[in-house]
Amino acid sequence: MILDMFDLSGKVAVVTGSDTGLGQGIAKAFVEAGAKVLGVSRSPSTATQEMLGEDNFKFVTADLSSLEPIEMIINTAAETFGRLDILVNNAGIIKREDSIDFSVENWDLVMNVNCRTLFFLSQAAAKQFIKQGGGGKIISVASMLSYQGGIRVPSYTASKSAVKGITMTMANEWAKYGINVNAIAPGYMATNNTQALRADEERSAAILERIPAGRWGTPDDLMGAAVFLASRASDYVNGFTLAVDGGWLGR
Ligand code: NAD
Repeated sequence: MILDMFDLSGKVAVVTGSDTGLGQGIAKAFVEAGAKVLGVSRSPSTATQEMLGEDNFKFVTADLSSLEPIEMIINTAAETFGRLDILVNNAGIIKREDSIDFSVENWDLVMNVNCRTLFFLSQAAAKQFIKQGGGGKIISVASMLSYQGGIRVPSYTASKSAVKGITMTMANEWAKYGINVNAIAPGYMATNNTQALRADEERSAAILERIPAGRWGTPDDLMGAAVFLASRASDYVNGFTLAVDGGWLGR
């Protein structure tokens, strides 16, 4: 039956950036669909665990600006829940500064979390999937700035454009192992990431006016796309970046 294809019972997922915002929403979606989730975040995902229950959701704290925690994350998922089937690369940061003054520090910080660690964590997950046999799913959280230039966010745009590109590269190379690699490009979502934008009345009104759906997105808006890309229902979807944007890109 078609709804069975979306069932994640028996599946184990790692979701980065699980303490708040979109990562918390994705963890909730996976647990509601039947999966067990290991969350990863800089500050403890205690609130997410309270929401989802200790049996379904466990977490580790880690700083994803370096590659150092990758082995620990994969091993913890495998040891805690016995296997790994799904990786969601959601953790991400943004630094706003005029391009003319943009610092090397803000370049490296954003590229490290949003792109460098994302790739090597995906590589480690893929190795685990191949070792287990039976494929797996990798989903990265991209952005409207995988498609557009943005303003005052050069390292963010570089990182998110890279996410869209390497999503295709990884999909091309790993489809033969039954691994699907895809991305979700959220539109403008009401989370910490956009707090500064929403506080700026002029920018906020201009953004809102341009969104055909007429509202900012919420973490709940990503739940359907996340479960789709994590489930059997998307087995023939490879290397695609799916916009969940209230129509922003179509305008
Ligand atoms: P958020 O700021 O609420 O969450 C960011 C998450 O990343 C947090 O869970 C945090 O723990 C984690 N994180 C950041 N740096 C980390 C580090 N060094 N080590 C470990 N974890 C780290 O923002 P959000 O909106 O929920 O963002 C989630 C993802 O969605 C990001 O990749 C962001 O770029 C992307 N995104 C957000 C929007 C939006 O409008 N909010 C739009 C497009 C894409």
